Amino acid sequence: MRTRHARVLPDWLALYYERPIELTHGEGRYVWDADGNRYLDFFGGILTTMTAHALPEVTKAVAEQAGRILHTSTLYLSRPMVELAERIAALSGIPDARVFFTTSGTEATDTALLLATAHRRSNQVLAMRNSYHGRSFSAVGVTGNAAWSPTTLSPFQTLYVHGGVRTRGPYAHLDDAGYIAACVADLEDLLRQTGPVAALIAEPVQGVGGFTMPPDGLYAAFREVLDRHGILWISDEVQTGWGRTGEHFWGWQAHAASGPPDLLTFAKGIGNGMSVGGVVARAEVMNALPANSVSTFGGSPVTMAAGLANLTYLLEHDLQGNARRVGGVLLERLRAVTAGLDLVREVRGRGLMLGVELVRPGTDDPSPEAANLLLEAARQRGLLIGKGGQSGAALRIAPPMTLTIAEAEEGARLLGDALRAVRERMTKGG
Ligand code: PMP
Repeated sequence: MRTRHARVLPDWLALYYERPIELTHGEGRYVWDADGNRYLDFFGGILTTMTAHALPEVTKAVAEQAGRILHTSTLYLSRPMVELAERIAALSGIPDARVFFTTSGTEATDTALLLATAHRRSNQVLAMRNSYHGRSFSAVGVTGNAAWSPTTLSPFQTLYVHGGVRTRGPYAHLDDAGYIAACVADLEDLLRQTGPVAALIAEPVQGVGGFTMPPDGLYAAFREVLDRHGILWISDEVQTGWGRTGEHFWGWQAHAASGPPDLLTFAKGIGNGMSVGGVVARAEVMNALPANSVSTFGGSPVTMAAGLANLTYLLEHDLQGNARRVGGVLLERLRAVTAGLDLVREVRGRGLMLGVELVRPGTDDPSPEAANLLLEAARQRGLLIGKGGQSGAALRIAPPMTLTIAEAEEGARLLGDALRAVRERMTKGG
């Protein structure tokens, strides 16, 4: 299968593992491969299996809708689309909110940037260093990570701001208040050098960036500056939405003094694997486009039915509360199993979005080699995790939000074993 994959798919479509895994089915927080091996899934297909694998409520909603009609297009009224839009608008915190559905996070980013640049009549955009917002031509133009930005051509003039990575970079030594003040000063300085700017796009917790985040309140402080210039704030909630961060339903709420963002993007988890993405904006911004716009597949009935069933399950079972509780236990256990290991520089994150940054033992240098070895060692022990970060040295842990305490403990134990094995191997120079 690997050979066939390599023959017909692009070289840049990276696969995890020396011997890539073919997953065939899943249930709850577990998945099985084609050889019958079972894994505890701590990555959820890049934070997309949000509630659980094979959740009966979602499967039933998809099957029922598929049996009625698969596609209608946005030219006709769609009950599931209107219902999901109503619920997302109400949950967003954005006043007079309008929702536009897309098929991916990338397309949500594109749409948000199109809206903001049209509304502000400027193609200058602020983005965070170490950011990721998608793979399209416009999205890579606001992605502050060379490993994910294959061209320097861009429809935007993008200015990259400090603040997303708390413990590295020139302000890392400052305390939280000092760090925020330095980032705000940098932003103000940047704005003095440039003409009108359309928007700031930012992930409250950076996903591909390795689950790094600023101190709470940074975006509220930014907001004051942005407001003085009339610059819109786009919160990319593709990874942080729907309560995954535990304390908050949206990542932006860790900066709540600012009030809601002007635009919010979502994707990944809401469809639990069905292609649902979208943008929420207040009507004035959403309606700023001077021409028609349509996404033929955006908001298609089967995906909307899945989103509705998934969101209902999430809210009725308080999975945000579960992410807070079980995420808290998982963070504590991860700190315990990594304590004293010189391979581990930092355990960070919030809720069920936890990162472990690895370094070359005895140094502060990121170690992508260790991260690769770790992924293999975890896999051998029956645990799937992800990785990310500027140099690919951060492990990413983001299980489905129905994770139980017992599963959190099992995963932390497996990761601890894997870390010790990798540490030993690195010492031996193997
Ligand atoms: N924004 C963020 C924060 C993401 O993490 C991603 C995907 N990793 C995207 C946008 C793009 O989403 P998609 O892959 O669905 O296009």
